[in-house]
Amino acid sequence: MAIRFRCKQCQEPIEVDEELAEKLARCPFCQTVVTVPGRSEVEIDEVATARPVEPASGGLPPVPAANVPLHVGPRPMTYAQHGAVAYGNYSLIATALFITLTVAMAVILAIELSHIQAGSSQPTQPPSFAEATEMLEDVRNRKPWISALPMGGLFFALIGLVFGIISLSKWVGSWRGWVAVTICGGYLLMSCVGALLTLV
Ligand SMILES: [Zn+2]
Repeated sequence: MAIRFRCKQCQEPIEVDEELAEKLARCPFCQTVVTVPGRSEVEIDEVATARPVEPASGGLPPVPAANVPLHVGPRPMTYAQHGAVAYGNYSLIATALFITLTVAMAVILAIELSHIQAGSSQPTQPPSFAEATEMLEDVRNRKPWISALPMGGLFFALIGLVFGIISLSKWVGSWRGWVAVTICGGYLLMSCVGALLTLV
């Protein structure tokens, strides 16, 4: 029977022959010399590739030469990383809703404005700033629900940012968290700057 245990240093699963029980062996992953436990500590399904253990250097007693079947494969995710993926998924859903609402608003406004422009006295001339403002006002009066789109977009951007930050706080390597924080945070930052510029 082989003994399977995790390296105390790098946590990689190692398998050695039973005759190495309570003796020293070199971890094939991080090269740390570890004491093999008396019996298996962990259940490891995937084992592969054998690599000989080299003798220890320095004052350490010689490490028995043995074939060490290794576990090769992704390290199992920690509890915190699972949480980071879950919150990362929520943040991505919120980000997708934010983008959908923003794109929908842009498309609807563009269609409405082109209709108004086509009906104006000078359809080929681009409208002046005052005319454009008036056209926007006209669209808002006829379709008051259009104002709800940016509010909804802002709401989902905020949700995406919060969930993205929670995801990153659990695991800084969560790409979902980074995507959501970059998109939602960037949009909210630009909105704040825009609002401040309007006030000044
Ligand atoms: Zn190790």
